[in-house]
Amino acid sequence: MSRSQLIQALRAPARPTVSVEFFPPKTPEAGAKMLEVARALRPLGIDFASLTYGAGGTSRDTTLAYGAELVKLGFPLIGHLTCVGHSQAELTEVIAGYDAAGFSGILALRGDPPKGQTAFTAHPEGFAHAEGLVRHIAAVRPGRFAVGVAGFPERHPDATDDLSDTRFLAGKVSAGADFVTTQLFLDNEDYFRFVARARAAGVTVPILPGIMPVLSLKQARNFCGFCKARIPEALVRELEACGDDEEAQRKVGVSWAVRQVRGLVARGAPGYHVYILNRAESALDLFAQLKS
Ligand SMILES: Cc1cc2nc3c(=O)[nH]c(=O)nc-3n(C[C@H](O)[C@H](O)[C@H](O)COP(=O)(O)OP(=O)(O)OC[C@H]3O[C@@H](n4cnc5c(N)ncnc54)[C@H](O)[C@@H]3O)c2cc1C
Repeated sequence: MSRSQLIQALRAPARPTVSVEFFPPKTPEAGAKMLEVARALRPLGIDFASLTYGAGGTSRDTTLAYGAELVKLGFPLIGHLTCVGHSQAELTEVIAGYDAAGFSGILALRGDPPKGQTAFTAHPEGFAHAEGLVRHIAAVRPGRFAVGVAGFPERHPDATDDLSDTRFLAGKVSAGADFVTTQLFLDNEDYFRFVARARAAGVTVPILPGIMPVLSLKQARNFCGFCKARIPEALVRELEACGDDEEAQRKVGVSWAVRQVRGLVARGAPGYHVYILNRAESALDLFAQLKS
């Protein structure tokens, strides 16, 4: 899928646009497993895959290598890229690698502070915010990539208020972003309020909601604690009712995600982006249940 096809699919979807997110594996064994998951998902008509970028360039080589493998499997690929620890010259090199490997797009991110640091510090020759990276991608490879940026339905954890956070999102879009993918959220109302704020701030590009089928209450608490997403009480109760039965908790997670997706699409979301955590089972269950 070319950049323009991808943007067209998001802007005027004949059906909901579906994407799945992988993270770069740390060992060859984990890599083989990730590609097995990708092969299992490939026949399902997923529109594109995205592959994350480790903090501070720690996954620079693996994002490129596994991204190239996903491209070979036939996925239009969005490679994530963060500003952490990179000069503009280094970012240009990574972008050139994505170009050569046939990536369709880039998710332009600021990134989080590296482990042990509490505040983000920009590289002296880099960018302090994702907006700079969006402009840089357009400058070094004009028109080559579909460019996405991150959005936060429950507000970015560093932001002081919704208004300024939305204004900065609008800045990233004005700088050239073609779409927004959101942080995971578990209450659809957070997404709809976020979209309303973004539209009011002049953001017109598609806003793809991020969905994570939770695996268990423990996993949800860990993950949501890290990205500061709220777990609705109703979901906590459903998961608690499963006791120690991990498979039952996983099924609750899938069924919650199915209800979220149906509710989102029914109210106009352009599609959905699934945080699959490099695992096939919940993703396959989710897609199967959404078809039935
Ligand atoms: C879909 C998605 C995918 C992600 N993938 C990855 C990944 O692959 N690797 C990774 O390390 N992290 C990833 N992250 C996490 C992300 O890097 C962090 O959440 C990071 O803290 C913020 O990145 P950002 O691009 O939103 O930053 P920015 O848009 O730069 O925003 C960061 C903060 O600065 C504020 N801000 C923005 N612009 C300005 C400005 N011009 N002036 C002043 N303040 C401003 C914002 O309100 C916000 O509080 C992902 C997040 C999402 C939602």
